[in-house]
Amino acid sequence: MSAPILPGATIGILGSGQLGRMLALVARRMGYRVATYSPDRDSPTGQVADREVVADYDDLDAVRAFARHVEVVTFEFENVPSTTVEAIAAHAPVRPSAAVLHMAQHRLREKTFLARHGFPVAPFAPVREPADLTPALAAVGLPAVLKTAGFGYDGKGQFRVHTPAEAPLALATLRDTLGTGEAILEAFVDFAAELSVIVARAATGATVLYGPVENRHERHILDTTRAPATVRPTVAAAARELATDIARALDVVGVLCVELFLTRDERLVVNELAPRPHNSGHYTIEACLTSQFEQQLRTACGLPLGDPTQLRPAAMANLLGDLWQEGEPNWAAALAVPEVKLHLYGKTEARPGRKMGHLTALADTVEEAATRVLGARAALTVRHGRPG
Ligand code: AMP
Repeated sequence: MSAPILPGATIGILGSGQLGRMLALVARRMGYRVATYSPDRDSPTGQVADREVVADYDDLDAVRAFARHVEVVTFEFENVPSTTVEAIAAHAPVRPSAAVLHMAQHRLREKTFLARHGFPVAPFAPVREPADLTPALAAVGLPAVLKTAGFGYDGKGQFRVHTPAEAPLALATLRDTLGTGEAILEAFVDFAAELSVIVARAATGATVLYGPVENRHERHILDTTRAPATVRPTVAAAARELATDIARALDVVGVLCVELFLTRDERLVVNELAPRPHNSGHYTIEACLTSQFEQQLRTACGLPLGDPTQLRPAAMANLLGDLWQEGEPNWAAALAVPEVKLHLYGKTEARPGRKMGHLTALADTVEEAATRVLGARAALTVRHGRPG
């Protein structure tokens, strides 16, 4: 194995959102320098990085120049073209690898990989053109979910299909909003809960795990995470084993989030993989000895993994742009709740549905942590003592 990349070196981050910001903050604490690359200026990552390169992902000259000035490149955003990653790989190591990135960029590739390795997934079928809908519906059954195969996140580009007649309309709408390209039809999973497990895997093959945690969504966007999930120990153990096996099968070096459905009869079904820190792991910053972001840094740099032990139950609530509708949220009110921590990502425009920040609360129990974090978030829209 190559020598570790040590403090003082420059870490390159592809993408410039909040995940890169939280990684950059850890990297700077540990004495690294940080350069970020994305098309955006004054970005969440750029605001806390040493250097913010603003260029398109397909500007390969700019990409090569960026790669020549960093010791390693990692990413916080998986929808980077593979030609970009290949151009970087000629100059600097990319962790996780281009192969892992390629697989996770496309739902059909991801689901096919999982199914081929025997991991549990909901029945699915490719939909490349309208004529594929009939065989896909026959294979998958109803109700189903039609999703774009690539470049979809936070539930953008997905539609529930209840009857065969709805399917062509869903496909047409998907194409109107997101352009042509492949889609995937998946069976709808009537889940009891959504869980996630985060694995950090080193180049040596060593792994550490976080979770499972329980995730609740609103409008297909993560709303809250409860850590740990309140599930039976056998379910927790099975989720951890599944995530470890997937990380090994992928041969990933880095952080991998495995999103799972827990069915009403207590089976686990893999929904999605993300080969990077994940929104459902933000609680690790305050609640764990080593955060998911520090693990990303350690795995990218070839350092030993950190101890992931969770020191205290925690809950996280996302802060979406909608909270700004009536003006600036009441930060002081939220911060008056015990053991509540505020994270804001430095985004200037608060659009509805946009992730602007999050709150994490710690407590003696996960229920109490959830009560605290929801109370703190509700307090954000209380003005001068009146509900807003
Ligand atoms: P995704 O972008 O695929 O992670 O989907 C976002 C959210 O939509 C998930 O976290 C679920 O709440 C819901 N969802 C997606 N796919 C399915 C499915 N096959 N069955 C039930 N719910 C789903």
